[in-house]
Amino acid sequence: MNTLCECQGPGFCNRHQMNKNDTAFSLCNGTAPCADCGLKYWMAWEFGKLGATQPDNPVPNPPAFCDPSRSVNGPVPCSGCTSAAPVRMTLSKYVTNATQALTRFIGDGMKLADEETKLARLLACETCPLNRAGWCGGCGCNLALKTASRIEECPGHKWFPAVRKTRKLDCPKTNLLMHLLPVAANNNWKWNLKELKKRDHLFNNKKVLAIAIDERSNVGGRNLKTVSADEVIAYSRCIGLEWDVVEAFPNDQHLREVATFEWLMSNVVSIDPNEITFYCQGKAVTHSDDSITVKWGQVMYDSCLDDFSSVVKALETFSIAGALRRFGEFTTPNNNRWHYSGTFFWFRNDDVFKTQKWKTIDREFFGVESWPGLMFKPEESACLFGDNVGSLYEPSAWVQLEEKSRVWKECRKT
Ligand code: SF4
Repeated sequence: MNTLCECQGPGFCNRHQMNKNDTAFSLCNGTAPCADCGLKYWMAWEFGKLGATQPDNPVPNPPAFCDPSRSVNGPVPCSGCTSAAPVRMTLSKYVTNATQALTRFIGDGMKLADEETKLARLLACETCPLNRAGWCGGCGCNLALKTASRIEECPGHKWFPAVRKTRKLDCPKTNLLMHLLPVAANNNWKWNLKELKKRDHLFNNKKVLAIAIDERSNVGGRNLKTVSADEVIAYSRCIGLEWDVVEAFPNDQHLREVATFEWLMSNVVSIDPNEITFYCQGKAVTHSDDSITVKWGQVMYDSCLDDFSSVVKALETFSIAGALRRFGEFTTPNNNRWHYSGTFFWFRNDDVFKTQKWKTIDREFFGVESWPGLMFKPEESACLFGDNVGSLYEPSAWVQLEEKSRVWKECRKT
């Protein structure tokens, strides 16, 4: 039987648009008045368009989905009805989000995502705990509409705007670059290494560490005295974190991580289209163990390294992806005025190393943070978490981040 479906997605389906008989239609449509119910069937039939076939064993009499009154044995769970995540959204917030989505759609020339992208998005949403019966519990949008719009992205950053041509990554080579100032007065340098150790399995190619060494215990009131490079290497070994290349540098308090950036990058020069690199710096190393910057660092480690499939998805479309993207900062010449606040980011090696431009860097302490904005335009970048929330030194930014963090974590629960 020809099972092609011409519908636009759940919520758009009706029997006139779908080339199915009544039984097939009811399987696709579910039996309850819930936009999400029956989505699994719908997806199976839809994927027939991409080369799959009709399901081998379609359920002839599907139980009622969601609605207990229509089921003999009680409600059958579906992702939209069983999520433990409450939709904490006021009407005004919902209206704001919907208006913003519409504005983005119009601003993008009302372009639609291609069929394959839309289906991949729907598949991600279908298994997402924040799918509230066809509506996103993260932003309040209707998922049929949201996934169809080219410019839209998942509020949990599980899928991204489809505004650029996709370049597939297939089990990519992965490198790790780190700049570390191991200040002896606190344990934060160890904490950074332990965070990386937890995600060590992500890095299958080169791991390169630049250690900045300082003897000074009072630089403008700051104690920068570090432990030795040998102690850092020994500690790394002790926790099972092996580096392929390590080098110690004198700490340059004016340039900070700028001083080691070119050396770190030179270790991973490659235009392999299947190679990506993660850059980070020891976060909170000059602060106390309970500083807000530790929390900031935790957010970056979690969002950049705890969902590798989202990183790959982002880099299949964009040249660079990181956490806490902000716009409007850095007015140095030729900067596109955006950055990742805190300087944790992944990049595609082919896009960075295809020219010598990567060596251009602001010779200031903030130079590595401003470097992505020198290399790429904002539309060439993806955000993995916490887009444009403002300065993390401001409490209001953390209020926004808490909510975004809830969405990010909730939509990844299995
Ligand atoms: S959070 Fe993302 S994956 Fe989950 S329902 Fe919303 S848009 Fe879909």
